[in-house]
Amino acid sequence: MSDRELIVLGTASQVPTARRAHTALLLRWEGHDVLIDPGEGAQRQLTLAGHSAARIHTICITHDHGDHCFGLPGVLQRMALDGVDHDVPLLYPAGSREVVEALVAAAPHANRVVAPHPVATPGHVADRHGLAVRAARLRHGVETLGWRFEEPDGWRMDPRLLARAGIHGPDRARLRREGRLRVGGRTVDLEEVASPRAGQSVAVVMDTGWCDAALDLAADADLLVVEATFLDSERELAEEVGHLTAAQAARLGRLAGARRVVLTHYSQRYPDLGEHLQQAQRAAPDLDLTVARDLDRVQVPPRP
Ligand SMILES: [Zn+2]
Ligand SMILES: [Zn+2]
Repeated sequence: MSDRELIVLGTASQVPTARRAHTALLLRWEGHDVLIDPGEGAQRQLTLAGHSAARIHTICITHDHGDHCFGLPGVLQRMALDGVDHDVPLLYPAGSREVVEALVAAAPHANRVVAPHPVATPGHVADRHGLAVRAARLRHGVETLGWRFEEPDGWRMDPRLLARAGIHGPDRARLRREGRLRVGGRTVDLEEVASPRAGQSVAVVMDTGWCDAALDLAADADLLVVEATFLDSERELAEEVGHLTAAQAARLGRLAGARRVVLTHYSQRYPDLGEHLQQAQRAAPDLDLTVARDLDRVQVPPRP
Protein backbone atom coordinates (compact mmCIF):
# COMPACT_ATOMS: atom_id res chain seq x y z
CA MET A 1 0.00 0.00 0.00
CA SER A 2 1.30 3.39 -0.99
CA ASP A 3 1.83 6.01 1.70
CA ARG A 4 0.44 8.65 -0.66
CA GLU A 5 -3.19 7.98 -1.38
CA LEU A 6 -6.64 9.47 -1.30
CA ILE A 7 -9.52 7.80 0.54
CA VAL A 8 -12.85 9.03 -0.77
CA LEU A 9 -14.88 8.80 2.43
CA GLY A 10 -18.15 10.09 1.00
CA THR A 11 -19.39 11.08 -2.46
CA ALA A 12 -22.84 12.66 -1.95
CA SER A 13 -23.60 16.31 -2.57
CA GLN A 14 -26.65 17.96 -1.00
CA VAL A 15 -28.52 14.81 0.12
CA PRO A 16 -26.89 11.50 1.12
CA THR A 17 -28.31 8.29 -0.31
CA ALA A 18 -28.37 4.68 0.86
CA ARG A 19 -25.02 4.16 -0.91
CA ARG A 20 -23.42 7.58 -0.60
CA ALA A 21 -22.39 9.44 2.53
CA HIS A 22 -21.86 13.19 2.45
CA THR A 23 -18.64 14.47 0.96
CA ALA A 24 -15.39 13.84 2.83
CA LEU A 25 -11.84 13.15 1.65
CA LEU A 26 -8.79 11.85 3.47
CA LEU A 27 -5.42 12.51 1.87
CA ARG A 28 -2.89 10.11 3.38
CA TRP A 29 0.57 11.54 2.96
CA GLU A 30 3.43 9.61 4.58
CA GLY A 31 1.79 9.31 7.99
CA HIS A 32 0.35 12.82 8.08
CA ASP A 33 -3.30 12.77 7.08
CA VAL A 34 -5.21 15.72 5.73
CA LEU A 35 -8.99 15.61 6.18
CA ILE A 36 -10.81 17.70 3.60
CA ASP A 37 -14.49 18.62 3.95
CA PRO A 38 -15.80 16.49 6.82
CA GLY A 39 -19.42 16.23 5.73
CA GLU A 40 -22.01 14.64 8.00
CA GLY A 41 -21.04 11.08 8.91
CA ALA A 42 -17.30 11.58 8.29
CA GLN A 43 -16.43 10.02 11.65
CA ARG A 44 -18.21 6.77 10.77
CA GLN A 45 -16.80 6.74 7.24
CA LEU A 46 -13.30 6.93 8.75
CA THR A 47 -14.13 3.86 10.83
CA LEU A 48 -15.48 2.02 7.77
CA ALA A 49 -12.25 2.90 5.95
CA GLY A 50 -10.33 1.37 8.86
CA HIS A 51 -8.70 4.65 9.61
CA SER A 52 -8.01 6.45 12.86
CA ALA A 53 -9.09 10.05 13.38
CA ALA A 54 -6.06 10.38 15.65
CA ARG A 55 -3.77 10.47 12.62
CA ILE A 56 -5.36 13.58 11.14
CA HIS A 57 -2.80 16.38 11.17
CA THR A 58 -4.59 19.04 9.12
CA ILE A 59 -8.23 19.80 8.31
CA CYS A 60 -9.30 21.90 5.31
CA ILE A 61 -12.83 23.03 4.57
CA THR A 62 -13.85 24.36 1.16
CA HIS A 63 -17.04 26.18 2.27
CA ASP A 64 -19.79 26.11 4.84
CA HIS A 65 -22.51 24.20 2.99
CA GLY A 66 -23.53 21.36 5.30
CA ASP A 67 -22.48 18.55 2.96
CA HIS A 68 -18.87 19.77 3.42
CA CYS A 69 -18.62 20.49 7.14
CA PHE A 70 -21.48 19.18 9.28
CA GLY A 71 -19.37 16.18 10.31
CA LEU A 72 -16.72 18.42 11.86
CA PRO A 73 -17.93 18.32 15.51
CA GLY A 74 -18.07 14.51 15.50
CA VAL A 75 -14.55 14.19 14.10
CA LEU A 76 -13.17 16.76 16.56
CA GLN A 77 -14.85 15.09 19.51
CA ARG A 78 -13.45 11.75 18.41
CA MET A 79 -9.95 13.20 18.08
CA ALA A 80 -10.18 14.65 21.60
CA LEU A 81 -11.47 11.29 22.90
CA ASP A 82 -8.58 9.47 21.23
CA GLY A 83 -6.12 11.77 23.01
CA VAL A 84 -4.77 13.70 20.03
CA ASP A 85 -2.08 15.91 21.46
CA HIS A 86 -0.84 17.70 18.35
CA ASP A 87 -2.26 21.04 17.26
CA VAL A 88 -4.33 20.43 14.15
CA PRO A 89 -4.74 23.50 11.95
CA LEU A 90 -8.30 23.92 10.71
CA LEU A 91 -8.14 25.93 7.47
CA TYR A 92 -11.32 27.42 6.05
CA PRO A 93 -12.55 30.47 4.14
CA ALA A 94 -12.86 33.55 6.35
CA GLY A 95 -16.44 34.01 5.12
CA SER A 96 -17.38 30.72 6.84
CA ARG A 97 -16.16 31.89 10.24
CA GLU A 98 -19.55 32.02 11.93
CA VAL A 99 -20.58 28.51 10.87
CA VAL A 100 -17.18 26.93 11.52
CA GLU A 101 -16.84 28.55 14.94
CA ALA A 102 -20.28 27.21 15.88
CA LEU A 103 -19.31 23.71 14.71
CA VAL A 104 -16.07 23.81 16.71
CA ALA A 105 -17.93 25.12 19.77
CA ALA A 106 -20.36 22.19 19.49
CA ALA A 107 -17.58 19.66 20.13
CA PRO A 108 -16.48 19.45 23.77
CA HIS A 109 -12.70 19.82 24.16
CA ALA A 110 -12.25 20.61 20.43
CA ASN A 111 -10.06 23.56 21.30
CA ARG A 112 -7.53 21.11 22.76
CA VAL A 113 -6.92 19.59 19.32
CA VAL A 114 -7.62 22.22 16.66
CA ALA A 115 -6.24 25.63 15.87
CA PRO A 116 -8.82 27.44 13.68
CA HIS A 117 -7.24 29.37 10.83
CA PRO A 118 -9.67 31.42 8.74
CA VAL A 119 -8.16 32.23 5.34
CA ALA A 120 -8.90 35.78 4.20
CA THR A 121 -6.23 35.99 1.51
CA PRO A 122 -5.88 32.96 -0.75
CA GLY A 123 -2.47 31.85 -2.02
CA HIS A 124 0.18 30.03 0.01
CA VAL A 125 -1.49 29.73 3.41
CA ALA A 126 0.44 27.07 5.36
CA ASP A 127 3.24 24.50 5.35
CA ARG A 128 2.38 21.11 6.77
CA HIS A 129 4.82 18.22 7.04
CA GLY A 130 6.66 18.95 3.82
CA LEU A 131 3.60 20.11 1.87
CA ALA A 132 2.88 23.69 0.93
CA VAL A 133 -0.87 24.31 1.28
CA ARG A 134 -2.37 26.72 -1.24
CA ALA A 135 -5.90 28.04 -1.59
CA ALA A 136 -7.79 29.70 -4.44
CA ARG A 137 -11.24 31.25 -4.55
CA LEU A 138 -13.73 29.23 -6.61
CA ARG A 139 -17.09 30.19 -8.13
CA HIS A 140 -19.98 29.02 -5.97
CA GLY A 141 -22.98 30.49 -4.13
CA VAL A 142 -20.94 31.21 -0.97
CA GLU A 143 -17.27 31.97 -0.42
CA THR A 144 -15.46 28.77 -1.42
CA LEU A 145 -11.79 27.81 -1.48
CA GLY A 146 -10.21 25.05 -3.53
CA TRP A 147 -7.06 23.50 -2.07
CA ARG A 148 -3.74 22.40 -3.45
CA PHE A 149 -1.04 20.48 -1.60
CA GLU A 150 2.44 20.74 -3.07
CA GLU A 151 5.62 18.91 -2.25
CA PRO A 152 8.74 20.95 -3.08
CA ASP A 153 11.15 19.63 -5.69
CA GLY A 154 13.89 17.52 -4.14
CA TRP A 155 16.67 15.08 -4.88
CA ARG A 156 16.77 11.32 -5.41
CA MET A 157 19.97 9.92 -3.89
CA ASP A 158 21.79 7.16 -5.79
CA PRO A 159 22.97 4.57 -3.20
CA ARG A 160 25.67 3.26 -5.56
CA LEU A 161 27.19 6.72 -6.13
CA LEU A 162 26.91 7.54 -2.41
CA ALA A 163 28.82 4.38 -1.49
CA ARG A 164 31.47 5.10 -4.10
CA ALA A 165 31.91 8.62 -2.67
CA GLY A 166 32.22 7.18 0.86
CA ILE A 167 29.05 8.85 2.18
CA HIS A 168 27.11 6.84 4.76
CA GLY A 169 24.53 7.20 7.55
CA PRO A 170 23.79 10.71 8.83
CA ASP A 171 26.17 12.23 6.27
CA ARG A 172 23.53 11.52 3.60
CA ALA A 173 21.02 13.80 5.32
CA ARG A 174 23.72 16.43 5.83
CA LEU A 175 24.62 16.39 2.15
CA ARG A 176 20.94 16.70 1.20
CA ARG A 177 20.54 19.61 3.62
CA GLU A 178 23.75 21.50 2.86
CA GLY A 179 24.24 20.67 -0.83
CA ARG A 180 27.91 19.69 -0.43
CA LEU A 181 30.04 17.66 1.95
CA ARG A 182 33.74 17.33 2.71
CA VAL A 183 34.62 13.63 2.73
CA GLY A 184 37.93 11.76 2.41
CA GLY A 185 39.86 14.92 1.56
CA ARG A 186 37.53 16.16 -1.20
CA THR A 187 34.25 18.02 -1.57
CA VAL A 188 31.25 16.10 -2.93
CA ASP A 189 28.43 18.14 -4.47
CA LEU A 190 24.87 16.85 -4.16
CA GLU A 191 24.51 16.82 -7.97
CA GLU A 192 27.30 14.21 -8.20
CA VAL A 193 25.38 11.58 -6.23
CA ALA A 194 21.71 12.56 -6.73
CA SER A 195 19.33 13.52 -9.51
CA PRO A 196 16.54 16.13 -9.32
CA ARG A 197 13.15 14.76 -8.26
CA ALA A 198 10.01 16.74 -9.08
CA GLY A 199 7.69 17.35 -6.11
CA GLN A 200 4.16 15.92 -6.30
CA SER A 201 0.91 17.81 -5.96
CA VAL A 202 -2.73 17.06 -5.17
CA ALA A 203 -5.58 19.47 -5.98
CA VAL A 204 -9.12 19.53 -4.58
CA VAL A 205 -11.68 21.48 -6.64
CA MET A 206 -15.16 21.69 -5.12
CA ASP A 207 -17.81 23.18 -5.19
CA THR A 208 -17.53 25.42 -8.26
CA GLY A 209 -18.72 26.44 -11.65
CA TRP A 210 -16.14 26.51 -14.45
CA CYS A 211 -13.49 29.14 -13.64
CA ASP A 212 -9.82 29.97 -14.20
CA ALA A 213 -9.02 29.46 -10.52
CA ALA A 214 -10.07 25.81 -10.80
CA LEU A 215 -7.79 25.37 -13.81
CA ASP A 216 -4.90 27.02 -11.96
CA LEU A 217 -5.38 24.81 -8.90
CA ALA A 218 -5.45 21.69 -11.05
CA ALA A 219 -2.48 22.64 -13.27
CA ASP A 220 -0.20 19.62 -13.74
CA ALA A 221 -1.47 18.05 -10.51
CA ASP A 222 -0.47 14.43 -9.98
CA LEU A 223 -3.92 13.85 -8.51
CA LEU A 224 -6.97 16.03 -9.02
CA VAL A 225 -10.20 15.52 -7.08
CA VAL A 226 -13.03 17.41 -8.70
CA GLU A 227 -16.74 17.74 -8.14
CA ALA A 228 -19.08 16.30 -10.78
CA THR A 229 -22.48 17.12 -9.34
CA PHE A 230 -24.47 16.95 -12.56
CA LEU A 231 -24.78 15.35 -16.00
CA ASP A 232 -25.01 17.15 -19.37
CA SER A 233 -28.82 17.17 -19.13
CA GLU A 234 -28.52 19.57 -16.14
CA ARG A 235 -25.74 21.70 -17.60
CA GLU A 236 -27.71 24.96 -17.41
CA LEU A 237 -28.69 24.28 -13.82
CA ALA A 238 -25.03 23.52 -13.01
CA GLU A 239 -23.96 26.86 -14.46
CA GLU A 240 -26.68 28.67 -12.54
CA VAL A 241 -25.86 27.22 -9.12
CA GLY A 242 -22.06 27.05 -9.44
CA HIS A 243 -21.39 23.37 -10.04
CA LEU A 244 -19.74 21.19 -12.69
CA THR A 245 -21.00 18.37 -14.85
CA ALA A 246 -19.07 15.11 -15.18
CA ALA A 247 -17.97 16.11 -18.70
CA GLN A 248 -16.75 19.51 -17.50
CA ALA A 249 -14.88 17.91 -14.61
CA ALA A 250 -13.07 15.56 -16.99
CA ARG A 251 -12.36 18.40 -19.42
CA LEU A 252 -10.94 20.45 -16.56
CA GLY A 253 -8.57 17.61 -15.69
CA ARG A 254 -7.44 17.23 -19.30
CA LEU A 255 -6.94 20.96 -19.94
CA ALA A 256 -5.05 21.37 -16.67
CA GLY A 257 -2.77 18.42 -17.49
CA ALA A 258 -3.66 16.49 -14.34
CA ARG A 259 -2.14 12.99 -14.34
CA ARG A 260 -4.99 11.24 -12.51
CA VAL A 261 -8.51 12.58 -11.98
CA VAL A 262 -11.09 11.52 -9.39
CA LEU A 263 -14.73 12.58 -9.77
CA THR A 264 -16.98 12.83 -6.71
CA HIS A 265 -19.85 14.88 -5.13
CA TYR A 266 -22.87 13.59 -7.06
CA SER A 267 -26.45 14.80 -6.93
CA GLN A 268 -28.94 12.44 -5.32
CA ARG A 269 -30.98 12.48 -8.56
CA TYR A 270 -28.55 9.94 -10.08
CA PRO A 271 -28.82 6.56 -8.33
CA ASP A 272 -26.41 5.05 -10.84
CA LEU A 273 -23.05 6.57 -11.90
CA GLY A 274 -22.68 4.79 -15.25
CA GLU A 275 -23.65 7.90 -17.15
CA HIS A 276 -21.10 10.00 -15.23
CA LEU A 277 -18.39 7.63 -16.40
CA GLN A 278 -19.59 7.63 -20.02
CA GLN A 279 -19.92 11.39 -20.31
CA ALA A 280 -16.56 12.00 -18.62
CA GLN A 281 -14.81 9.48 -20.86
CA ARG A 282 -16.40 10.99 -23.95
CA ALA A 283 -15.19 14.47 -22.92
CA ALA A 284 -11.62 13.33 -22.21
CA PRO A 285 -11.03 9.86 -23.70
CA ASP A 286 -7.43 9.32 -22.59
CA LEU A 287 -7.76 10.60 -19.07
CA ASP A 288 -6.70 8.41 -16.12
CA LEU A 289 -10.13 8.68 -14.52
CA THR A 290 -11.95 7.30 -11.47
CA VAL A 291 -15.65 7.91 -10.88
CA ALA A 292 -15.34 7.46 -7.15
CA ARG A 293 -17.62 5.40 -4.93
CA ASP A 294 -17.67 5.75 -1.14
CA LEU A 295 -14.53 4.34 0.49
CA ASP A 296 -12.59 4.07 -2.79
CA ARG A 297 -8.84 4.40 -2.39
CA VAL A 298 -6.91 6.08 -5.17
CA GLN A 299 -3.13 6.14 -5.21
CA VAL A 300 -1.22 9.29 -6.02
CA PRO A 301 0.47 7.98 -9.19
CA PRO A 302 4.21 7.37 -8.74
CA ARG A 303 6.46 9.85 -10.47
CA PRO A 304 7.18 8.95 -14.10
ZN1 LIG B 1 -21.48 20.40 -1.98
ZN1 LIG C 1 -21.76 23.91 -1.95
